[in-house]
Amino acid sequence: MANDNIKKISLLAAVVFLFLYIIPTLSLHFFEKKYPLKNSEIEIKETDDLVISSDDFEIRYVQVYDINNDKVLTLEIEDYVMGVVAAEMPAEFESEALKAQAVAARTYLLYKLKKNTKNPEQHKDAPICTGIHCQVYYSKDELIEKFSQDWYNKYWDKIASAVNSTRGQILSYKNKIIEPLFHSTSGGKTENSEDVFSAFTPYLRSVESPYEENSPKLTSSVSIPVSEFIQKLNENFGVSDLTAQNLKNKISLVDISEGGKIKSLQIGDKVLTGRDIRSLYNLNSAGFRFVQSNNTIEIITNGYGHGVGMSQYGANGMAIQGFNYEDILKHYYTGVDIIKYK
Ligand SMILES: [Zn+2]
Repeated sequence: MANDNIKKISLLAAVVFLFLYIIPTLSLHFFEKKYPLKNSEIEIKETDDLVISSDDFEIRYVQVYDINNDKVLTLEIEDYVMGVVAAEMPAEFESEALKAQAVAARTYLLYKLKKNTKNPEQHKDAPICTGIHCQVYYSKDELIEKFSQDWYNKYWDKIASAVNSTRGQILSYKNKIIEPLFHSTSGGKTENSEDVFSAFTPYLRSVESPYEENSPKLTSSVSIPVSEFIQKLNENFGVSDLTAQNLKNKISLVDISEGGKIKSLQIGDKVLTGRDIRSLYNLNSAGFRFVQSNNTIEIITNGYGHGVGMSQYGANGMAIQGFNYEDILKHYYTGVDIIKYK
């Protein structure tokens, strides 16, 4: 009998919790935009250094700074692209998705060569490095060490043939090389570049990404004690007067992006960006919501990565649906052409 009463009380507590906490947080996504981005705040990228010229078609080798061994490697371009595709995309993905990644990787390399920004700190003056600072590249030995000899035997030919079948192909927008940003999983819609970074880029527009259901990161969650949640806000951003009791009333949404991520939110007397919160709590994306239960805050995120450009899981989903790599690239990079680089 006493046991039954405990069950009833627990059920009642669960219902009260649902109404007090979960339902209000669900409505967070439906707030109106309070402060839309003004056009004067958008920086337009207009430079000539990215115009594609005949000289670009002569390049065969590239200098790559190897961050693990602190030395500059000289690699044949297509070999470099293979090592990037292997490192940046799961090899189990469909061939058309791997081809899309190959074209993006090759384009990014040429973009870096043309930008020619010296990075003595990160690169020892090479135009590109093997780390996440640029795009990750693994050598054959590193791939075997990271994955296994069996993995290498099973997938290397598939990766090499995806790269070879798109040999020399790059992405351009109005005859300029593009910066082909990509990310793991958008969460359903990609982001406009200016909503995440400062610059408006015409080919990095928010588009639907409907086939991401196979992504393990479509939604994820982290739980932290309320005290820690509050302490971090206070220590890093000077947000004061937050308590477990008033927290729910002290947080409100200010602005949401076209892709559905949080651009800014009011917490106490401060306005913070979604990216501030993402890095503060090490979240998968800036598409998040809070669910408070007594002493714990659960932060539920949607997608993985910055959300700009090609969604890799979205690309694989499109490939499963029968789209080819050109369809995939033209879907995620608005208005681009695929041109043959050599
Ligand atoms: Zn780099």
